[in-house]
Amino acid sequence: MAPKVKRIAGGALRIVLSRTLPAEIDRATWLFTRHRPSPKHCPCCGTTTKFRIFGLPPRLDAECPKCHSMERHRLQRLYLDENPSLIEGKDVLHFAPESFARLYISERALSYIGGDLNPAPGDVFVNIEAMHFPDDSFDLVICNHVLEHVDDKKALAELRRVLRPSGTLLLMFPIIEGWATTYENPDVLTPQARLAHFGQEDHVRYFGADVRDRIRTAGFRLAEFTAEEPLVCKFGLLRGEKLFVCGGAL
Ligand SMILES: [Zn+2]
Repeated sequence: MAPKVKRIAGGALRIVLSRTLPAEIDRATWLFTRHRPSPKHCPCCGTTTKFRIFGLPPRLDAECPKCHSMERHRLQRLYLDENPSLIEGKDVLHFAPESFARLYISERALSYIGGDLNPAPGDVFVNIEAMHFPDDSFDLVICNHVLEHVDDKKALAELRRVLRPSGTLLLMFPIIEGWATTYENPDVLTPQARLAHFGQEDHVRYFGADVRDRIRTAGFRLAEFTAEEPLVCKFGLLRGEKLFVCGGAL
């Protein structure tokens, strides 16, 4: 191909790809990599199909094209399917709920509150650092990808306060397991700097392995549900991803 034609074709391709996010990232990656997905099963919607590539950097087999669940949603759903007693007949608080998870849990719970700083229709305003709920209000609290945005010490204390002693807190967050210590930096303030340091414009830390000490210090017992084979290949999970299962009673 002549150099001029090649430049024009490359430019046109970049324009097309830049205007086709996020689902069409699949096409870009399909063009530039050798990845050819095999069908996975989504426990959130029951579909078996080829999952989409998603994220920057792109993650293979990340998104269910039907319900838009990600790896972490499917890991949590697998755990809840194995432990239905956590939900059935229980009072549940769910932070920033995804629609498919809200429906599944709210249909089985005794009571269900979806909470967020910017609540979706049907949810309520909840500041995780200073909640308006009385002590011992909930049997199950689900808090996924929230702690990296907030004062985690305040949030964990509040989560412990509103959880009944027999209750369970399910936590997920970005964690760098190879780091012994959580990375926080008071000089990193701008969205651009936070993106560079913490992976997203509104994150304020990257947890390290010592997050377990933070959770225990807040008064929780701790167990971990880890994405391992054969579940990873079957359900399109992120290898080694953790669901932290925190018990309220010490
Ligand atoms: Zn799905």
